Amino acid sequence: MFGTMMTQALSISSLIVHAQKYHAATEVVSVGTDGVVERSNWGAVATGARKLASALDKLGISPGARCGTIAWNNRRHLELYYGVAGSGRVTHTINPRLTPEQLTYIVNHAGDEILFIDSTFLPAVAKLKEYFEDVRYIVLLGPRDEDAAKVIDGLLFYDELVGTGSDAEPWPEVDENAPASLCYTSGTTGNPKGVQFTHRSTVLHSLGGNQPDGLGISARDVVMPVVPMFHVNAWGTPYIAAGVGAKIVLPGAALDGESLARLIDAEQVTLSLGVPTIWIGLLAGLEKTGSKAESMTRTVVGGSALPPSMITTFRDKYGVELIHAWGMTETSPLGTVNRLLQKHSNLPADEQARLRESQGRPPFGVDLRIVDESGNELPRDGETQGELQIRGHWVLESYFGQEESALTEDGWFDTGDIATLDSDGYMVIRDRSKDIIKSGGEWISTVELENIAVSHPDLINAAAIAARHPKWDERPVVIAVPAPGASPTEEDVLAHFKGKVASWQIPDRVIFVDELPLGATGKVRKMKLREAYADVLLEQN
Ligand code: AMP
Repeated sequence: MFGTMMTQALSISSLIVHAQKYHAATEVVSVGTDGVVERSNWGAVATGARKLASALDKLGISPGARCGTIAWNNRRHLELYYGVAGSGRVTHTINPRLTPEQLTYIVNHAGDEILFIDSTFLPAVAKLKEYFEDVRYIVLLGPRDEDAAKVIDGLLFYDELVGTGSDAEPWPEVDENAPASLCYTSGTTGNPKGVQFTHRSTVLHSLGGNQPDGLGISARDVVMPVVPMFHVNAWGTPYIAAGVGAKIVLPGAALDGESLARLIDAEQVTLSLGVPTIWIGLLAGLEKTGSKAESMTRTVVGGSALPPSMITTFRDKYGVELIHAWGMTETSPLGTVNRLLQKHSNLPADEQARLRESQGRPPFGVDLRIVDESGNELPRDGETQGELQIRGHWVLESYFGQEESALTEDGWFDTGDIATLDSDGYMVIRDRSKDIIKSGGEWISTVELENIAVSHPDLINAAAIAARHPKWDERPVVIAVPAPGASPTEEDVLAHFKGKVASWQIPDRVIFVDELPLGATGKVRKMKLREAYADVLLEQN
């Protein structure tokens, strides 16, 4: 048959080959665990990754083996992303903030054959290693270190291991539907569940998620993923940056606002990505260092709801556009990104600002719908709330090690989020279905209450939870963190809600705390707050 097109596998190695060929000199800047800044480039990363792949062959690591990483965002971790997956194995990124039990569970459930760790995690891994069932080698990410060698018998060193490999051969061919990476969900209840991304889903996510109305990263950008490489592949940025040839800045272990502010200025970062708690810290860091973050044009914020007051502060004080995005581990993660449409360009600034608050619209490649409890699709009117479902090229079908499908009968993935959709596809997350407050049969959105609370000038963070109530079943209670030096009163904060929500949605109580409990990915642990405060209204009645 004549008239056909080429078919090439959508492989992870094709991304790094492109970066090596067309962006070899573009910088890869990495902050080591010791705080030392290391300068490399895509050409050197590609060589390192290829040598690593060959070294894994020599070490006898099985084809398709899961190779665990417990590491910060740094250059060696980036080489692992390519070297492991490029050689047909699976990069299993592990969240170091998990409990020792969860970490052991994950390493064993994944059947990791080899573990690559940053020095920060050496003591923890030394304690747990006897419980790891399949791990044959532990590799420290760095040069030979005699002190570390005494901590774990037979410890290997990354730089030496890579030195045993060769980059003479081209990358092996892999099936694009083979797994490339594995990431476990943070799992607030029960055991964490593994989501395995394929070569194909990863490349399509890089292309689809990086369209101009998606992340929109280009060869003119300096991108700094603050979102960890152990949290859904740093939202795909290590792959996207190689594909487009962007300079990438990997911030290492110091994620406090001051360190980030300095790095942004030193490396002229144009774009960053992370969860809202990181940007609360950055605001304080910018104040402290006096930096104006002048190179920075935009920041992608997701993982939990972006408070509208933060959008205004970054815009007015620093000229930085905050772009709200939504996704989950099961969706690689990009599900929606907030960008305006051509028809919005002449709207007054405050109306545009209001539109920018939503979690955004799906890029080509994923599709959304909202349904009621029986699975009937609900109207896209911007008001009706329902269970949010998604499908697409980079959405999970079944969890790692589980035979049964995770999808509905008609092939959609139920996100566990409650949302509205409007006729243009703008989606607003109202809540996690397990967090939403059900007061006298009516729903109250904790996200909305939190957004109002943090717009109070004396509060820096807040979480709304459902507290048990004798009459209404559940009523909202806000747990709030005062700004440094401020001493807001409960009355004052409650008054701030007046006129912003219906009077029956105003919280019953405001409780002040020094800090909110954060989970392994920087999200507020509402379960913990509910354990502590769910009965406060019963106690007072
Ligand atoms: P994870 O798999 O740990 O990334 O968690 C995914 C969950 O985080 C989603 O199901 C949402 O509940 C929540 N989430 C992510 N992004 C946002 C956002 N922009 N606004 C509100 N919730 C979000």
